[in-house]
Amino acid sequence: MISISNLVVQDNFSTSYVLVSWTLTPTTEDLGPYTFNLFRSTSPADADFSLLTSTDELSYVDDTVDLVKIAITYYYRVSITGPEGTVMQPVTATIYTERPDFAADTIVYSNNILLDVIDNPPILVVTRKRTGQQCPVCWDPVSRNVRKSNCTTCYSTGYTGGYNTPFSTKASFQTEGVQLSVDELAIAGQRLPTQGWVSNYPIINPEDLVVDHRNNRYKILSVQQTTKGRVLLRQIFQLQYLPATDIVYKFNVSGG
Ligand SMILES: [Zn+2]
Repeated sequence: MISISNLVVQDNFSTSYVLVSWTLTPTTEDLGPYTFNLFRSTSPADADFSLLTSTDELSYVDDTVDLVKIAITYYYRVSITGPEGTVMQPVTATIYTERPDFAADTIVYSNNILLDVIDNPPILVVTRKRTGQQCPVCWDPVSRNVRKSNCTTCYSTGYTGGYNTPFSTKASFQTEGVQLSVDELAIAGQRLPTQGWVSNYPIINPEDLVVDHRNNRYKILSVQQTTKGRVLLRQIFQLQYLPATDIVYKFNVSGG
Protein backbone atom coordinates (compact mmCIF):
# COMPACT_ATOMS: atom_id res chain seq x y z
CA MET A 1 0.00 0.00 0.00
CA ILE A 2 1.29 3.40 -0.92
CA SER A 3 1.02 6.42 1.36
CA ILE A 4 1.17 10.18 1.19
CA SER A 5 3.99 11.93 2.99
CA ASN A 6 3.02 15.51 2.30
CA LEU A 7 -0.01 17.53 1.17
CA VAL A 8 0.45 21.14 0.08
CA VAL A 9 -1.97 23.90 -0.92
CA GLN A 10 -0.55 26.84 -2.89
CA ASP A 11 -2.71 29.94 -3.17
CA ASN A 12 -0.18 32.41 -4.55
CA PHE A 13 -1.29 32.47 -8.22
CA SER A 14 -4.40 34.64 -8.30
CA THR A 15 -7.65 35.07 -6.45
CA SER A 16 -9.44 32.42 -8.50
CA TYR A 17 -7.83 29.09 -7.72
CA VAL A 18 -5.45 27.10 -5.55
CA LEU A 19 -3.17 24.19 -6.43
CA VAL A 20 -3.35 21.16 -4.16
CA SER A 21 -0.53 18.64 -4.57
CA TRP A 22 0.63 15.59 -2.70
CA THR A 23 3.89 13.70 -2.43
CA LEU A 24 4.13 9.95 -2.01
CA THR A 25 6.40 8.15 0.39
CA PRO A 26 9.12 6.61 -1.81
CA THR A 27 7.70 3.47 -3.40
CA THR A 28 8.47 0.88 -6.04
CA GLU A 29 4.77 -0.03 -6.44
CA ASP A 30 2.94 0.47 -9.72
CA LEU A 31 0.46 3.33 -9.22
CA GLY A 32 -1.88 2.01 -11.92
CA PRO A 33 -4.40 0.38 -9.52
CA TYR A 34 -4.59 3.47 -7.27
CA THR A 35 -6.93 6.46 -7.28
CA PHE A 36 -6.57 9.57 -5.14
CA ASN A 37 -9.71 11.16 -3.68
CA LEU A 38 -9.43 14.81 -2.70
CA PHE A 39 -11.83 16.17 -0.08
CA ARG A 40 -12.42 19.71 1.12
CA SER A 41 -14.15 21.32 4.07
CA THR A 42 -14.36 24.67 5.79
CA SER A 43 -14.28 22.96 9.18
CA PRO A 44 -11.93 20.32 10.58
CA ALA A 45 -14.84 17.99 11.50
CA ASP A 46 -14.67 14.66 9.63
CA ALA A 47 -18.36 14.78 8.66
CA ASP A 48 -17.97 18.11 6.86
CA PHE A 49 -15.50 16.96 4.21
CA SER A 50 -16.96 16.48 0.75
CA LEU A 51 -15.35 14.93 -2.32
CA LEU A 52 -13.84 17.37 -4.84
CA THR A 53 -12.36 14.89 -7.29
CA SER A 54 -11.03 11.39 -7.81
CA THR A 55 -7.90 11.35 -9.94
CA ASP A 56 -4.79 9.36 -10.76
CA GLU A 57 -2.76 12.59 -10.91
CA LEU A 58 -0.82 13.88 -7.90
CA SER A 59 -2.22 17.40 -7.98
CA TYR A 60 -5.47 19.26 -8.56
CA VAL A 61 -6.40 22.84 -9.38
CA ASP A 62 -9.34 23.85 -7.21
CA ASP A 63 -11.10 26.82 -8.79
CA THR A 64 -14.19 26.57 -6.57
CA VAL A 65 -12.55 28.33 -3.61
CA ASP A 66 -13.55 31.86 -2.67
CA LEU A 67 -10.28 33.68 -2.10
CA VAL A 68 -11.91 37.11 -2.24
CA LYS A 69 -13.93 36.58 0.89
CA ILE A 70 -11.46 36.89 3.73
CA ALA A 71 -11.04 34.79 6.86
CA ILE A 72 -12.17 31.40 5.58
CA THR A 73 -10.09 28.35 6.38
CA TYR A 74 -10.17 25.58 3.80
CA TYR A 75 -9.16 22.10 4.89
CA TYR A 76 -8.02 19.50 2.34
CA ARG A 77 -7.58 15.76 2.76
CA VAL A 78 -6.63 12.97 0.39
CA SER A 79 -7.61 9.33 0.59
CA ILE A 80 -6.23 6.55 -1.56
CA THR A 81 -8.34 3.84 -3.17
CA GLY A 82 -6.23 0.80 -4.03
CA PRO A 83 -6.42 -2.98 -4.32
CA GLU A 84 -7.02 -3.22 -0.57
CA GLY A 85 -9.84 -0.66 -0.45
CA THR A 86 -9.77 2.95 0.65
CA VAL A 87 -7.47 4.26 3.32
CA MET A 88 -8.11 7.69 4.77
CA GLN A 89 -4.88 9.55 5.04
CA PRO A 90 -4.11 11.45 8.21
CA VAL A 91 -2.59 14.29 6.20
CA THR A 92 -4.54 17.53 6.13
CA ALA A 93 -3.52 20.84 4.60
CA THR A 94 -5.19 24.17 5.24
CA ILE A 95 -5.25 27.64 3.77
CA TYR A 96 -6.61 30.73 5.44
CA THR A 97 -7.90 33.39 3.05
CA GLU A 98 -6.32 36.77 3.62
CA ARG A 99 -6.86 40.16 2.05
CA PRO A 100 -6.72 39.54 -1.71
CA ASP A 101 -4.11 41.44 -3.73
CA PHE A 102 -6.15 42.70 -6.69
CA ALA A 103 -3.19 44.74 -7.98
CA ALA A 104 -1.15 41.54 -8.29
CA ASP A 105 -4.11 39.90 -10.03
CA THR A 106 -4.17 42.79 -12.52
CA ILE A 107 -0.45 42.38 -13.26
CA VAL A 108 -0.90 38.65 -13.90
CA TYR A 109 -3.87 39.45 -16.15
CA SER A 110 -1.84 42.06 -18.08
CA ASN A 111 1.07 39.66 -18.49
CA ASN A 112 -1.29 37.07 -19.95
CA ILE A 113 -2.66 39.64 -22.43
CA LEU A 114 0.90 40.60 -23.38
CA LEU A 115 1.73 36.94 -24.05
CA ASP A 116 -1.36 36.72 -26.28
CA VAL A 117 -0.44 39.92 -28.14
CA ILE A 118 3.09 38.66 -28.86
CA ASP A 119 1.22 35.97 -30.80
CA ASN A 120 3.73 33.16 -30.52
CA PRO A 121 2.22 29.72 -31.02
CA PRO A 122 1.51 28.02 -27.70
CA ILE A 123 4.25 25.99 -26.08
CA LEU A 124 4.03 23.00 -23.80
CA VAL A 125 5.43 23.16 -20.31
CA VAL A 126 6.29 19.63 -19.24
CA THR A 127 7.16 19.38 -15.57
CA ARG A 128 9.35 16.56 -14.38
CA LYS A 129 7.93 13.95 -11.99
CA ARG A 130 9.40 14.41 -8.54
CA THR A 131 7.27 11.79 -6.78
CA GLY A 132 5.52 8.55 -7.72
CA GLN A 133 6.72 5.07 -8.56
CA GLN A 134 10.48 4.79 -8.66
CA CYS A 135 11.51 3.42 -12.05
CA PRO A 136 11.41 -0.40 -11.92
CA VAL A 137 13.90 -0.58 -14.80
CA CYS A 138 16.72 1.71 -13.82
CA TRP A 139 16.26 3.13 -10.29
CA ASP A 140 19.07 2.07 -7.99
CA PRO A 141 17.90 2.30 -4.35
CA VAL A 142 21.47 2.07 -3.07
CA SER A 143 22.97 4.96 -5.00
CA ARG A 144 19.51 6.69 -5.11
CA ASN A 145 20.08 7.42 -8.76
CA VAL A 146 19.26 6.06 -12.23
CA ARG A 147 21.46 3.29 -13.60
CA LYS A 148 21.08 4.14 -17.29
CA SER A 149 20.89 7.38 -19.22
CA ASN A 150 18.46 6.35 -21.97
CA CYS A 151 15.65 4.62 -20.08
CA THR A 152 12.32 4.79 -21.94
CA THR A 153 10.31 3.91 -18.81
CA CYS A 154 11.31 7.03 -16.86
CA TYR A 155 13.23 9.09 -19.46
CA SER A 156 16.07 9.10 -16.95
CA THR A 157 14.07 10.97 -14.30
CA GLY A 158 13.96 7.95 -11.96
CA TYR A 159 10.12 8.01 -11.84
CA THR A 160 7.87 5.88 -14.05
CA GLY A 161 6.41 7.98 -16.85
CA GLY A 162 9.09 10.62 -16.38
CA TYR A 163 7.03 13.76 -16.82
CA ASN A 164 3.61 15.10 -15.87
CA THR A 165 0.79 15.83 -18.33
CA PRO A 166 2.00 18.61 -20.68
CA PHE A 167 0.45 22.02 -20.04
CA SER A 168 -0.22 24.29 -23.02
CA THR A 169 0.56 27.95 -22.42
CA LYS A 170 2.06 31.06 -24.03
CA ALA A 171 5.65 32.17 -23.66
CA SER A 172 7.86 35.02 -24.73
CA PHE A 173 11.29 33.95 -25.98
CA GLN A 174 14.52 35.86 -26.32
CA THR A 175 17.81 35.11 -27.97
CA GLU A 176 20.75 37.28 -27.05
CA GLY A 177 18.36 39.89 -25.72
CA VAL A 178 16.37 40.21 -28.97
CA GLN A 179 12.72 39.27 -28.80
CA LEU A 180 11.79 37.00 -31.69
CA SER A 181 8.99 34.62 -32.52
CA VAL A 182 9.91 30.96 -32.74
CA ASP A 183 9.34 31.10 -36.52
CA GLU A 184 11.72 34.04 -36.84
CA LEU A 185 14.23 32.12 -34.77
CA ALA A 186 13.94 29.15 -37.12
CA ILE A 187 14.45 31.40 -40.16
CA ALA A 188 17.50 32.84 -38.44
CA GLY A 189 19.02 29.35 -38.44
CA GLN A 190 20.47 28.09 -35.23
CA ARG A 191 19.45 31.11 -33.17
CA LEU A 192 17.23 29.13 -30.86
CA PRO A 193 15.89 30.83 -27.75
CA THR A 194 18.15 30.93 -24.73
CA GLN A 195 15.66 32.50 -22.35
CA GLY A 196 12.03 33.40 -22.02
CA TRP A 197 9.18 33.90 -19.63
CA VAL A 198 5.77 32.46 -18.90
CA SER A 199 2.93 33.39 -16.60
CA ASN A 200 2.72 32.13 -13.03
CA TYR A 201 1.21 28.70 -13.72
CA PRO A 202 2.33 25.96 -13.76
CA ILE A 203 5.31 26.52 -11.49
CA ILE A 204 8.45 25.53 -13.36
CA ASN A 205 11.74 24.31 -11.96
CA PRO A 206 15.16 23.47 -13.35
CA GLU A 207 15.11 20.15 -15.28
CA ASP A 208 11.52 20.70 -16.48
CA LEU A 209 10.97 20.81 -20.25
CA VAL A 210 9.66 23.31 -22.76
CA VAL A 211 8.40 22.00 -26.11
CA ASP A 212 7.80 24.51 -28.88
CA HIS A 213 5.28 24.10 -31.73
CA ARG A 214 8.00 22.62 -33.94
CA ASN A 215 8.64 19.95 -31.31
CA ASN A 216 12.00 21.45 -30.43
CA ARG A 217 12.64 20.48 -26.84
CA TYR A 218 14.52 22.45 -24.24
CA LYS A 219 15.64 21.83 -20.72
CA ILE A 220 15.00 24.54 -18.15
CA LEU A 221 18.36 25.47 -16.65
CA SER A 222 17.26 28.07 -14.10
CA VAL A 223 14.14 30.00 -13.13
CA GLN A 224 13.75 33.45 -11.65
CA GLN A 225 10.36 34.20 -10.12
CA THR A 226 8.91 37.70 -10.14
CA THR A 227 6.66 38.25 -7.15
CA LYS A 228 4.55 40.97 -5.59
CA GLY A 229 4.21 40.34 -1.91
CA ARG A 230 3.44 36.65 -1.80
CA VAL A 231 1.82 36.44 -5.25
CA LEU A 232 3.80 34.85 -8.06
CA LEU A 233 3.54 37.12 -11.13
CA ARG A 234 5.69 35.47 -13.78
CA GLN A 235 8.62 33.14 -14.30
CA ILE A 236 11.73 34.01 -16.29
CA PHE A 237 13.76 31.00 -17.36
CA GLN A 238 17.01 30.06 -19.08
CA LEU A 239 16.83 27.29 -21.66
CA GLN A 240 19.10 24.73 -23.19
CA TYR A 241 18.09 23.25 -26.54
CA LEU A 242 18.13 19.44 -26.52
CA PRO A 243 19.32 17.70 -29.71
CA ALA A 244 16.87 15.31 -31.41
CA THR A 245 18.86 12.33 -30.14
CA ASP A 246 17.99 13.15 -26.52
CA ILE A 247 15.85 10.54 -24.74
CA VAL A 248 13.18 13.17 -23.88
CA TYR A 249 12.06 13.19 -27.54
CA LYS A 250 10.67 9.70 -26.88
CA PHE A 251 8.24 11.19 -24.32
CA ASN A 252 4.80 11.50 -25.93
CA VAL A 253 3.54 15.07 -25.48
CA SER A 254 0.33 14.66 -27.47
CA GLY A 255 -1.39 12.82 -24.64
CA GLY A 256 -2.13 9.19 -24.11
ZN1 LIG B 1 14.19 4.34 -15.74
